[in-house]
Parts: sequence; C-alpha cells; structure tokens
Amino acid sequence: MALAQKLIQGGLAPGDVHLFEASQRAGGLCASKTVDGYTYDETGGHILFSKNKPVMDWVIEQSGGVDQFTWNDRNTKIRYEDRWVHYPFENGIGDLPDQANFECVSDYVKAWHERSASHSEAPADFESWIQWRFGEGICEHFMRPYNEKIWKRDLAEITSGWVAGRVPDAPIDDVLRASIGIRTEGYTHQSKFAYPLKGGFQAITDGFANSLEKNIRLGTPVTDVRKVGDTWKVNGEEFDRVVSTIPMNLVPDFLQDIPGDAASAMRELSNNQISCFLLALDRPEHPDLSWVYLPHHNQGPANRITYMSNYSPNNAPDGKSSFLCEVTSRGGSAFPNASLVDEVIDGMAHAGLLTRDEILFTDRTDTRWAYIVYDHGFEARKAAGLAHAEAVGLHLLGRFGRYDYHNSDQCVIEAEKLSVTLLADAKKG
Ligand SMILES: Cc1cc2nc3c(=O)[nH]c(=O)nc-3n(C[C@H](O)[C@H](O)[C@H](O)COP(=O)(O)OP(=O)(O)OC[C@H]3O[C@@H](n4cnc5c(N)ncnc54)[C@H](O)[C@@H]3O)c2cc1C
Repeated sequence: MALAQKLIQGGLAPGDVHLFEASQRAGGLCASKTVDGYTYDETGGHILFSKNKPVMDWVIEQSGGVDQFTWNDRNTKIRYEDRWVHYPFENGIGDLPDQANFECVSDYVKAWHERSASHSEAPADFESWIQWRFGEGICEHFMRPYNEKIWKRDLAEITSGWVAGRVPDAPIDDVLRASIGIRTEGYTHQSKFAYPLKGGFQAITDGFANSLEKNIRLGTPVTDVRKVGDTWKVNGEEFDRVVSTIPMNLVPDFLQDIPGDAASAMRELSNNQISCFLLALDRPEHPDLSWVYLPHHNQGPANRITYMSNYSPNNAPDGKSSFLCEVTSRGGSAFPNASLVDEVIDGMAHAGLLTRDEILFTDRTDTRWAYIVYDHGFEARKAAGLAHAEAVGLHLLGRFGRYDYHNSDQCVIEAEKLSVTLLADAKKG
C-alpha cells in the first residue's frame, strides 16, 4: 500500500494502480483485533519507530496525523527467575544474582580477550557466534535459551547473518559498568515509539487502505502471473508492471515458466510462524513496561509478552488491562494445539507475571509468516530467487516478498525507492 501511495503521490493516475489482496482485509502483518473492548496486535506486538524521520512523519500523516497517536517510552526488561533484568541483557547483568553476574562478566571478558588477541573473524553459525561474541555465561543465562525458544532449532543450524543491528553490541566498558551496578543504555534508537490511539497497530494500514479503497481488490488472490511480450497478465488481466509482496516461497505457485532451480530455491526459503494470545485481565493497571522477554523454559512457551494495554489507553476497557503473548513454531508445521494457552499462562504464573484468577478470557491468532529463518544456504537461495525475478522483470518487495528482515518503516523505505524506478519507467512510456 505504501508503494501505491507513493506512485499516486508521484503522479501516476490513481486508476492505473491496482492492488490484489487475498484476504478480506488489507494490511498484512499489520493486523489488530478487538474482542470485548480489548485490542491486540494479532501477529505480535508492533510499535512505530524509525531512524528515518521523514518516513516516520510520512507514515503518521498517511494514518490520519499525529493526533491519532500516543507516544510511549520504551521500557523493556528480561524476566530472570523472580527479578527484572535490564534489556539488553549485557547491559543488565548487574541485576542478576551474584553468581550469574560473575559468570556472565568473567566469560564476557574472556571472549573479548580471545577475540582481540586472535583477531578471529565472526563465526558463520549462530551458536558459535554467540559464544564468540558474549562468552558462555551470557549464552547460558540468556542468549541460548531465548534464541532456542524463538528459532525452534539447534542454533548451529542458523547463521549469524541476521544479527547486525538486531543483536545489540555492547562495548566491554559498558558491560563492566553494568556488572557493578552502573546503569548503561544499550539500545537507544527505539527509546520512544508511537502507537495508534485507537484500533491497534492496524490503524496505520487502515489509514492507507482508506485512501486506496478504489485501488484495492479484497478477497482476490493472485493465482496466475505470466509475462506476455513486454506486458504482464495477472489472473488473465493485462498490466505494464507487477510488484509482488507475497512471500517469495509462494511465487512458484503463481509465476509461470519459472525454471526448476529458481523455483526450488524460492520454495526452500524458510520462515517461522507465530501464535499470539490476548490475555484479557481483570487488573486495573500494569507496571510501566512495554514488553518483557521470557528466556527460560520454566517460564512457559512464550518468548515475549507485550503489556498491550500500556500502549494505548484504548487497548483495554477502563480499569482493565491486557497482555499479548507470542509463541513461535517452525514454518510449515501444524500450529501448537489448543492447550498452548494453558502452558503460556502456567509459565507466566511461574514467572510471577500474573495469577490465573485475573484472566477474564483469552483470544488466539495464528500467523504463518512471522520470522525469516537464516538457515545455511538461505543467502544463496534468496539470491537465486531474486535473480530470477529480476531477470524476468518481476519486482519483489517487502519483508517476505524479498525475505529481508524488515520492520514496516523499512518496507516503506524500500517502497519509496521502488516508486522512483517505476515512476521513471512510466515517464519513458
Ligand atoms: C512478531 C512481529 C513483530 C513485528 N514488530 C514490528 C514492529 O514493532 N514495528 C514494525 O514496524 N514492524 C514490525 N514487524 C514487521 C511488520 O509487520 C512487517 O515488516 C510488515 O508488515 C511487512 O509488510 P509487507 O507488506 O512486506 O508484507 P505483509 O504484511 O506480509 O503483506 C503481504 C500481503 O500479501 C497478501 N497475500 C499473500 N498471498 C497473496 C496472494 N496469492 N494474492 C494476493 N495477496 C496475497 C497477504 O494477505 C498480505 O496482506 C513485526 C513483524 C512480526 C511478525
């Protein structure tokens, strides 16, 4: 939708832009649901932030303007046994029990020294990378159990290719300070975030969808895309250019004449799915937290809990509050069964986050494409898929469209870049 907006704002006639959307609702992963006055983000907790201010401003403007948003201070923590640990973990080790603090700082220093003395290169697999980067203490107390929960596989099966900018990189002095209790900030760029006052994160894409109402064909899955000379046919209808934001591993289902090796490269791109639970609580208010990480298995299957009712006063009825709990599973597998919510609740109760009698009701949404899995061979498969699309002139865009680990602001940035190319093409005729 951002691309459609950019094309129209760039001068393309609105009648020349057509969006095919399989679902009855536009917005994809930006999806929210309201049940009995409680609103939650169905595909996991979403916040609006961007290092790119013009993009942030543009998104806010398309979504109805700054008055439609509330601004929150990000306050995230890790739950460790019965205590809160500052996030990122290596900036919070002073909050740990003494022995764990010692193990983390001692092994961090050893890992730092070994890296500096040997000038070793960053290992390619994620398990070796976390040991190389953080040392065994931080791996054991946080990194390994947390990442095993999210990725649902042995960490040696995934690469360290996705970590840049995603796993914070604390200077050793900050870790030493943290260990003795001097507070350091590890992750400042999302320190404030915006969130729609009403309707959950989906209110943002609803804002886009409202102005593109005539362009979007809801309930219209793309089933057949073929190149005919210099033009394209989509479901039999002729177009000059085609852009796909459909997950790249589904492209071989609809793109005709795709060679076998490109098709299998695309199909074998892997992803993890997510099951999200709303817990509607009879609790007047929460502590001032945005979200918390639950790294340990005895805290249940959820890896992250969002304090959903803290994001906007309208996310829960007056005097009530809510949690959003996220549980991942391997892409393509059956979603975990109905008892999953009980395991989530038991784990949270064990972690001291709630008591069962506070829960009024729960709601669940399962989503197939949530996280890109950077397994070995991923980069080569992705490159082969992109190369074929480029060779035939099919534009791929978006988080799963290109298999880039993008948040929505980065999707907008990429849409803007593509709009420049497409508008220049359109001018040439
Ligand atoms: C757990 C989680 C947390 C996140 N947190 C944040 C956050 O805090 N902030 C943030 O900005 N971003 C966040 N994101 C990322 C954000 O949701 C995505 O980057 C963004 O929504 C991706 O948009 P997209 O257009 O690329 O794809 P999608 O949103 O996946 O849209 C793809 C669309 O294609 C449609 N489609 C599929 N097949 C067909 C077909 N055959 N024909 C027609 N249509 C089809 C789908 O219905 C869907 O509407 C998070 C994502 C997850 C999973």
